[in-house]
Amino acid sequence: MQHQLTCEQVSALLSFYVEDKLSEKLSEYIRLHLESCPSCLEKYLKMKNMINKFMDIQNKEIENPYANKQYEDFRNNLSAYIDNELNDFENIKIKKIAISNPLARQDLENIYTFKKLLHSSFEKTKNDLKNDYSKSIISQIKHEDIQEKKLDPFFTLVISFFAMITCIVAGIISILYF
Ligand SMILES: [Zn+2]
Repeated sequence: MQHQLTCEQVSALLSFYVEDKLSEKLSEYIRLHLESCPSCLEKYLKMKNMINKFMDIQNKEIENPYANKQYEDFRNNLSAYIDNELNDFENIKIKKIAISNPLARQDLENIYTFKKLLHSSFEKTKNDLKNDYSKSIISQIKHEDIQEKKLDPFFTLVISFFAMITCIVAGIISILYF
């Protein structure tokens, strides 16, 4: 076969193969080689075993003894607690869990920090809006001011124009009829 891999090539690629980081084609060549080569297959199985054990250790480290049923209860009631929706008895229960369970305490701190951040950003937005609002009022007033100043001379002109026309018409009438 044209693409048959040598034992050296398979050894070099084995760790990538175990972690499933090779192209489909290359994986396929290695699989074919392993089927027909007991010594490479042994290497492969050893490596796979080692990686599995390593993964197990990692997973056990992630498992936290405080991530228990009590903590789950706490998580389920946390937002109700923050929003003051629990009765006194439930409130005390949540507080007790937060004191005895570091995971719960951390959650509570995180959510309070988050709330504070949210609140301060809300206040900021409100202030910004207030500023914008007063700015827009000021600019509106200025605008009206300008309009008034613009309109004023125009009206004066119109009124004096009408006064002039009235005088002329009155003059013509008085000349024609008297
Ligand atoms: Zn081999």
